[in-house]
Amino acid sequence: MIPLEEARERVLSAIPAPDVVGRASSDALGLVLASDVRSPSTVPPFDNSAMDGYAVRHEDVAQVPCVLPVSEDVAAGHVARGIVEPGTAIKIMTGAPIPTGADTVVKVEDTVPGEGSVEILVQPEPGVAIRRAGGDVAKGDRLFSAGEVVTARHIGVFAAVGVAEVEVCRPVRVGVLSTGDEVMPPDVVELDPGQIRDSNRPLLIGLLAESGLQAVDYGIVGDDAGALRGTFAEAARDCDAVITSGGVSMGEYDLVKQVLTDLGGIELWKVAMQPAKPFAFGAIGRTPLFGLPGNPVSVFVAFEQFARPALLAMMGHGALRRPRIDATMGEDVTTDPEKTVFLRVVVESSRSGRIAHLAGGQASNVLSATARADAFAVVPRGVAALSAGDPVTLEMFRWAND
Ligand code: AMP
Ligand code: MG
Repeated sequence: MIPLEEARERVLSAIPAPDVVGRASSDALGLVLASDVRSPSTVPPFDNSAMDGYAVRHEDVAQVPCVLPVSEDVAAGHVARGIVEPGTAIKIMTGAPIPTGADTVVKVEDTVPGEGSVEILVQPEPGVAIRRAGGDVAKGDRLFSAGEVVTARHIGVFAAVGVAEVEVCRPVRVGVLSTGDEVMPPDVVELDPGQIRDSNRPLLIGLLAESGLQAVDYGIVGDDAGALRGTFAEAARDCDAVITSGGVSMGEYDLVKQVLTDLGGIELWKVAMQPAKPFAFGAIGRTPLFGLPGNPVSVFVAFEQFARPALLAMMGHGALRRPRIDATMGEDVTTDPEKTVFLRVVVESSRSGRIAHLAGGQASNVLSATARADAFAVVPRGVAALSAGDPVTLEMFRWAND
């Protein structure tokens, strides 16, 4: 058996560097910037009013209350025809350009409107309620740096400054297939004896989508050497990576194992972890292939520990791991001291801290408990048992509402 950390390092060191592409900035959500983004423009583009109110010269409102004639109204999207002459005001809406001559805006709440005039009740601070040109972004500013993940907020800024295209790390396309003669499409209503529905492929396609990766569905391939070889080759040719499930267990006669080893460049590993000990990894040509075990919980654990970090790295992400937090175990558990054990737990936030409770059955086929879980409680090698109240590290794949 090889230690989990060594297996993960071998996977991460074998994956190709990201490709850089240009992409419409509005279409870059979740992608990683491949170069710094500088602003081609100034935001706001002009001095404008932060309030609905009256644009005035500050010296004209030194004594309040006072009454000023209002020469015109200026709405957002329009420019005042005239200027604020000494002793006058222009009515102004939020976002409208500050008229020439004015240096202050009195907010509407501090005024009483009259016939062609306004009474100012409160003396404003000089320059108040004016949003200066460039107060948000100056032309040439570095807005964002290479390596940042584009969020909706970034996309809003790109729009504000007029950045139409950005350089990003290309999205990674991942071919997904299930193997096994017993595995049937999920929409089969009546299963024949010995058959099961394919949960791994929908699970993996969803996991990829949750991490911003693109899945390509290659369906179910039965235990047939020719069909397996053909589908592996097609997926490797058309995708950036391939994930299979099933057929990599040790000691059994299995066509998947045979075909993967025949293809060359793929090794079968026994990783010192539970679940998901058997794991095939390598490349078909230059395309990485992750051969996950067949049991659905093992699929999830192996995806989280190997495929997800590797695929995120292929997309240029720097943060590859789930957030880790400290908690205490909610009940007694025994684990295999030879392996890193990933218990699926529900996290309870209590006054004394976070408590991890087993989410249900911990066998590698019990996907329902995994679906209810928030985190892995990671029990390191060398530990054979934890008691209720013992400290444990959690790897969070869902944040509880607390
Ligand atoms: P294998 O590694 O192919 O021997 O599979 C291990 C276990 O996982 C067996 O009980 C399989 O029936 C089950 N299994 C394999 N593939 C799938 C799948 N796509 N969905 C659900 N269970 C599966
Ligand atoms: Mg099988």
